Amino acid sequence: MQISILGCTGSIGTQTVDVCQQLGYRVTSLACHSQIDLLFEQIKQLQPYMVAVSQPAAALRLRQRLEAAGLECKVLTGEAGLETVARDPQAQMTVQAMVGMCGIKPVLAAIDSGHDIALANKEVLVAAGRLVLARARQQGIRLLPVDSEHSAIWQCLRSGHRSELKRIIITASGGPFRGYSEARLKEVTLAQALQHPTWKMGGKITIDSATLMNKGLEVIEAARLFDLTEDQIAVVVHPQSIVHSLVEWQDGSVIAQLGTTDMRLPIQYALTYPRRQPSARAGLDLNQTSALTFEAVDTATFPALDLAREALRRGGLAPAVFNAANEVAVQAFMAGKLDFCGISRLVSRLLYEYSILSTDEDLDLERILDTDRHIRQQAKELLEWKD
Ligand code: MG
Repeated sequence: MQISILGCTGSIGTQTVDVCQQLGYRVTSLACHSQIDLLFEQIKQLQPYMVAVSQPAAALRLRQRLEAAGLECKVLTGEAGLETVARDPQAQMTVQAMVGMCGIKPVLAAIDSGHDIALANKEVLVAAGRLVLARARQQGIRLLPVDSEHSAIWQCLRSGHRSELKRIIITASGGPFRGYSEARLKEVTLAQALQHPTWKMGGKITIDSATLMNKGLEVIEAARLFDLTEDQIAVVVHPQSIVHSLVEWQDGSVIAQLGTTDMRLPIQYALTYPRRQPSARAGLDLNQTSALTFEAVDTATFPALDLAREALRRGGLAPAVFNAANEVAVQAFMAGKLDFCGISRLVSRLLYEYSILSTDEDLDLERILDTDRHIRQQAKELLEWKD
């Protein structure tokens, strides 16, 4: 199997490299934004024939380093470079592990070239999910979920017939601020928000986990991937992150998928689907596992989940609005320009201010991209944030 990896220097990207090496899969091309030190090491290790670095200055530095080291590898840059890697004719599958809506064009490029896609880039599925799924269907390619909850649901769905499904139940760790009061939540710092209790992840998703925006994004992601309505998707807090999600059938039977908190498991399942391969990683030891507990989400203190549900019910471009507002809010929080509770406040304000015109607009790429740009602009104006 030959694989191309976008977002190769991030958390999912580096773990995908690890899984590919364990499986003996060849990585033919890589793409990242600007972390060329790590990319240089990956080139030495994996010997891809082509890479893309979206930031032009970083691409130039990488070319010089490769030349000095006598390593041969084509270095592309910009958005076009990412799309070329997504279309890599030597690869059979593209792993899309970029963060944010900026991953949309590479996703569409990979689909149009006929590659199956292991998709970790949830923002694309949220903002443009209907478009992406429609394109994938047209091209007859598979979209394989990498997100642990969606991988779990995908695995659980194999236990019954789709027409027998009652609902899915997505688990949430609750993040580092589970149990906090609203007053306490107002005081939290960036450093505290970056301390996730069970998963080690990149910055954006860690903040999203703390606000529960991540769970909101995942509700919309699940609606798209599994063609579900908002009322067919439940969320429950499960602080141990051992049960990755569940599926409830019409007869009342509930099937869960359990595993360690290691993203390499869902990554591997996407890469080997529909088969399973042995893994050298430590499995789940139930003798060593503490009690598994479940509790309701505190939606009054953490409004993110209800905002996502509202966006999903509204449909059309509302999920794109929700996502763009959140991306800017997270950047602003990380830059010290917005307090923690301000993230949900900003998303709420933009979601309710934006009037939705018709329901099929989210099948039109230009409309989605225009909305994304417009909301980012609006969000920055509200924050009086110039960059
Ligand atoms: Mg997840």
